Amino acid sequence: MKDIKWGELPFGYSKTNYNVRCYYRDGKWGSIETTSSEHVSIHMAATALHYGQEAFEGLKAFRGKDGQIRLFRWEENAKRLQKSAEGIMMAEVPTELFMKMIMRVIKLNKEFVPPYGTGASLYLRPVLFGSGAQVGVKPADEYLFMVFVTPVGPYFKEGFKPVDIQLVRDYDRAAPLGTGSIKVGGNYAASLRPGTRAHDEGFASVLFLDAKEKKYIDEAGPANFFGIKDGKYITPDSNTVLPSITNMSLRQIAEDIGLTVERRSVPVEELGTFEEAGACGTAAIISPIGKIVDRELDKTYTFSTDGEPGPWSTKLYERLLAIQLGEVEDTHGWNTIVE
Ligand SMILES: *Cc1c(COP(=O)(O)O)cnc(C)c1O
Repeated sequence: MKDIKWGELPFGYSKTNYNVRCYYRDGKWGSIETTSSEHVSIHMAATALHYGQEAFEGLKAFRGKDGQIRLFRWEENAKRLQKSAEGIMMAEVPTELFMKMIMRVIKLNKEFVPPYGTGASLYLRPVLFGSGAQVGVKPADEYLFMVFVTPVGPYFKEGFKPVDIQLVRDYDRAAPLGTGSIKVGGNYAASLRPGTRAHDEGFASVLFLDAKEKKYIDEAGPANFFGIKDGKYITPDSNTVLPSITNMSLRQIAEDIGLTVERRSVPVEELGTFEEAGACGTAAIISPIGKIVDRELDKTYTFSTDGEPGPWSTKLYERLLAIQLGEVEDTHGWNTIVE
């Protein structure tokens, strides 16, 4: 095990031993390469650079209570990357290849999988992009799929506490019939300006509305939104929301603990009726929301007045984390043990 202050690690990049790569050329995937280089050499006319042919994934491996390494729901990430590839006409990474590469990269970097009890985990970042040269607007004929890992600290250094979110009306993250439902870099580029402004104005993240009517809750920055009221877990159903695997898992847990799940359009005004609200994604599982401020209308929706997360959000968070850490039985078969 590396001598690292695991609990103090940020959610950011730090160097590990190896990463793995595989090229798609002449209509087929090649062999898996292992390298310690942190750089890639690609053609200056690569479609990733000019036309945004790029998609990525994010998932975590945890050292469990029993010392075993557990990988959470990787098949869902493989499937989602295939959808992203299909959406922007890239070569799809077969599930088997995806699996081999993530398993290999974890094994090669075992000493960077943080110990149990530190709150830290190993974050895996698979990335697929058009590396082949093209000047006319068309898909590349060469692709690079690579996976690197980086240990990340606990998301909440001061514990599981609510954050404030800014609702924006002057930016959209994705168009209704665009690429919002796939995990492509371009969506992130579009969210950088409102996201950075929100940080500068004292908020943890932004909340986007649907691009067409500005009537419904859409995506919470790089995370999905959910609200809780009257024993119900309510989350937006929209074709501009990225299908979060964390949200999918929380919906299942919500049912397991006696909440009713509703996936539907969520009108902005409904914010005023939620007892609890949160943003969810792999990085934090849940970021409980203290308040949401509508920047333009200068209206505030408050969910926590005492600086503490609500009881349902806490329960959902603790249950999912306990499954990932092997502290409770994995009744849904979500974990894969890395041998
Ligand atoms: C990745 C991502 C999420 C969260 O998905 P998880 O699978 O839960 O990590 C939510 N929204 C956006 C826009 C994303 O890119």
